[in-house]
Amino acid sequence: MTRRVSIFGATGSIGANTLDLIGRDRDAYDVVALTGGRNVDQLARDARTFGAEVAVTAYDACYGALKEALSGTGIDAAAGEAALLEAADRPADWTMSAIVGAAGLPPGLKALEQGGTLALANKESLVTAGPLLMQTAKAHGADVLPVDSEHSAVFQALRGEDIDTVERVIITASGGAFREWPIEKLKTATCAEASSHPNWDMGQRITIDSASMFNKALELIETKEFFGISPDKIEAVVHPESLIHALVGYCDGGLIAHVGPPDMRHAIGFALAYPKRRPLPVERLDLTKVGKFTFHIPDPERYPALTLAREVMETGGLAGAVFNAAKEAALDAFIAGNIGFTQMADIVAEVIEIMSGESLGNAAITLESVREADQMARARANQVIDRK
Ligand code: NDP
Repeated sequence: MTRRVSIFGATGSIGANTLDLIGRDRDAYDVVALTGGRNVDQLARDARTFGAEVAVTAYDACYGALKEALSGTGIDAAAGEAALLEAADRPADWTMSAIVGAAGLPPGLKALEQGGTLALANKESLVTAGPLLMQTAKAHGADVLPVDSEHSAVFQALRGEDIDTVERVIITASGGAFREWPIEKLKTATCAEASSHPNWDMGQRITIDSASMFNKALELIETKEFFGISPDKIEAVVHPESLIHALVGYCDGGLIAHVGPPDMRHAIGFALAYPKRRPLPVERLDLTKVGKFTFHIPDPERYPALTLAREVMETGGLAGAVFNAAKEAALDAFIAGNIGFTQMADIVAEVIEIMSGESLGNAAITLESVREADQMARARANQVIDRK
């Protein structure tokens, strides 16, 4: 029987890897919705290749180009936030959530209401609204499967185990583009330099977030929200080889590690085949060639984002939404060349400080409250950026 699948963020790095896997087993899937942003040519090409029912661009301004590119194909073209929600409402058994940023939350929540499987690459959904996402899944009998490589690794190391016997969860970090740079030089790092990852081939925003370790900061929060593990049991270590993605330590002192090549098709393919395992076209590691695995503690001066993540986890509530929005605004400003690399963490810290009086920790988490906190934090971040 074919499975109905939809991919939100189909034109991005995760989206392309997902389509690569689906393309290798075409008869097993019916593609329902593919969505993208500005890359309309790619979206139309994918929609034609995979015979999608509907293709949606997030931007109204791109609608004309998409409609034109799909004319005569019978594939529906649509644009805007409401169209993304309508696409998420089309019956699908499996949905990939791979839009980048907080914009991924509403379609992910809508897809969960169908009670199918949500493969979650969009970590921002958990960071901004973890309890809402997990409760929505529970209320509708839907499954959420992690696609972030570290969280897929934790998920696999936890399979068949009792969560109450977990003593610690260790997620690994490559250390990003600047792990060898002298700290004083980080101030001068350019966007092009930050956009090149030593091990992984990913979208630009997550690559820059890896260099600053804002990505790891989001992942610490994601670990807390997804697995319900208390922050004091979650650690990040630098592992430059990026071959061990995470380890789970149990009360008997044993550690179960997940080891694999740095290829997102493993985590995506695991979520696609779950609960079974199927062969995947990823490299098989030769451990005798790998030789050794190294680890070290991340330097808090080099990676201040990790300290901020601890604060956010302690506060809880809407602190994640504020943190993520301030980070997204700071990242936009860095990419636009308006601020320096190290200023991103300064700006996020300042926004958290400014908004700490807003009772973030006690606030109810609804789509509306998350949106409000997000908008407020972006506005504050932009004020701080303008003063820099
Ligand atoms: P990309 O930047 O490569 O792709 C992002 C996708 O989202 C594109 O399809 C883009 O469209 C679309 N998009 C951008 N802005 C919006 C918006 N405002 N509304 C709707 N759609 C939008 O990102 P990645 O694939 O790298 O990452 C996607 C998610 O997965 C992120 O949350 C990231 O943190 C997470 N992730 C990524 C990993 C990776 O290996 N890349 C690893 C683990 C997690 P277009 O390009 O057409 O403008």
